[in-house]
Amino acid sequence: MSEDPRRQVPRTDVLLADPRLAEASRTLGRTLVKSVVADAQQQARAGTIAADQVADYAVAALPSSAASLRPVINATGVVVHTNLGRAPLSQAAVDAMVTAAGATDVEFDLETGRRARRGRGALAALAAAVPTAGGVHVVNNNAAALLLTAMTLAPGKEIVVSRGELIEIGDGFRLPELMQSTGARFREVGTTNRTHLRDYTDAIGADTGFVLKVHPSNYLLSGFTSAVGVSELTGLGVPLVVDIGSGLLRPHPLLPDEPDATTMLRDGADLVTASGDKLLGGPQAGLLFGTAELVERLRRHPAARALRVDKLTLAALEATLTGPPPPVVEALEVDVASLRERAKRLAAQLPGAEAADCVAAVGGGGAPGVELPSAAVSLPESCAAPLRMGDPAVVGRLENGRCLLDLRTVRPGDDDALVRAVRACMS
Ligand SMILES: *Cc1c(COP(=O)(O)O)cnc(C)c1O
Repeated sequence: MSEDPRRQVPRTDVLLADPRLAEASRTLGRTLVKSVVADAQQQARAGTIAADQVADYAVAALPSSAASLRPVINATGVVVHTNLGRAPLSQAAVDAMVTAAGATDVEFDLETGRRARRGRGALAALAAAVPTAGGVHVVNNNAAALLLTAMTLAPGKEIVVSRGELIEIGDGFRLPELMQSTGARFREVGTTNRTHLRDYTDAIGADTGFVLKVHPSNYLLSGFTSAVGVSELTGLGVPLVVDIGSGLLRPHPLLPDEPDATTMLRDGADLVTASGDKLLGGPQAGLLFGTAELVERLRRHPAARALRVDKLTLAALEATLTGPPPPVVEALEVDVASLRERAKRLAAQLPGAEAADCVAAVGGGGAPGVELPSAAVSLPESCAAPLRMGDPAVVGRLENGRCLLDLRTVRPGDDDALVRAVRACMS
């Protein structure tokens, strides 16, 4: 009678001494490798794998990095995809982050050996990108920028805002609730579809902290509507704060309805807030542009310290601003003829695939309703799940019973990996 296979399961110390697992312990950490080994031993005890396969099974199950986040090829055609981490960074930004990951002179002047202004390179790049700003500041995200603004300009006071601009930004977060959590109150003016200048002027008084304009970045108001422009809201005796959302610093010809920081300041905004990881194409950050006096007040608020960004963000932001166009900008500006050519070339390498025209979108980052002509590799719908679970994961878009891999959001350098991923899931 043969021995019970469960008794022959190799011991943990024996498995960890396997050169492949020992090496993994050095790169991934012993705790992680031990948990993978424990799972493999469990499989052997359950009889799912043979005792002499435990080491091989564990090696195959090792993750490629110590963090659980995995690389994804965004083939959704949504340029700024919230669930896929918004803007993918440029190589220049990634390199800058790697450099800053070690000890770095983020708050130190190497020439004098003294303390220096934190993130001065990133701040100088922001100021250069928006010359109409008297001051610039960076916080954790746009929500933090609005929070700091409310805390500084409207403690115990009112924020005057149009009813058509009370927005929910996703995952159940609402800007009014966020700003009211500081103790500021909202004074809603106008109606959902129409707000006039007199609605604002009637509401402004001794209790007003500031007037807020919010760009409806994830919905469109159309039909019988009217809103008051930024230039009409200046000179009312209270600060005018404009949340532009998407982070365009200058007007973009392809996005004529998307507000930008330079124009808003020129039109008379005292403070502009924006995200760093939407159309700007950089790291998650909240960007603040405004008069030197207001920005300095925000910077000096005690809570500013709790909202500050880390050195990796500062490094990536500076490189995004000074380096080559980031992937978001490339995806926005690429011409459809080159996308069609790529779609044809890739489809020709993949049995069962076709090249197809489709329509991409800007996405969670802004420009609602803007349609970007695009081209895709069209696959049977059944490919979607295996592609998502492949390595690298590929996330496409389901449309009319097909799985579309929209090439507008796939970086050309990823085309070969895309072909390999599709082949792997079709075989
Ligand atoms: C996206 C968005 C926000 C939230 O920005 P985060 O950087 O995600 O905090 C706020 N306001 C508007 C108009 C937005 O579009």
